[in-house]
Amino acid sequence: TMGTIALDAAGNLSGMCTTSGMGFKMRGRVGDSPIIGAGLYVDNEVGAVTCSGQGEEVIRMCGSHLVVEFMRQGLSPKEACRRAIERIVNRDRARAKDFQVGFIALNRKGEIGAFSVQKGFNYTVTSASINQKIYDAEHFL
Ligand code: ASP
Repeated sequence: TMGTIALDAAGNLSGMCTTSGMGFKMRGRVGDSPIIGAGLYVDNEVGAVTCSGQGEEVIRMCGSHLVVEFMRQGLSPKEACRRAIERIVNRDRARAKDFQVGFIALNRKGEIGAFSVQKGFNYTVTSASINQKIYDAEHFL
């Protein structure tokens, strides 16, 4: 999945995501990316979130919406992502080592955060002062 979240000069948030789904997926499978609230969620009052990884795990939690709601409660983007990942992992800890989910979040102040289940969730940040810097998200396991 490729996702982008943005804050413009007027303070408006936006987001997109696109995916080819999982390799060897079942015919007709719908992943998280086309489901608003799962693979993508933007609330202009709060923040924007998108994610990548095992879509079934994300759909179950309404993952991107969950991260936005954590930010609405006052958590930073990174802590909001971490809390959603924690919930996904704790649902079935034994299985969590076998899949990846990573969230990236941006709030109205322009603060950015990310968190993933496993190592290897990378994202880039571009702003007036940052030119496509690459980050490796902190991970739960
Ligand atoms: N999230 C996508 C899906 O489950 C897969 C991916 O991130 O590559 O369809």
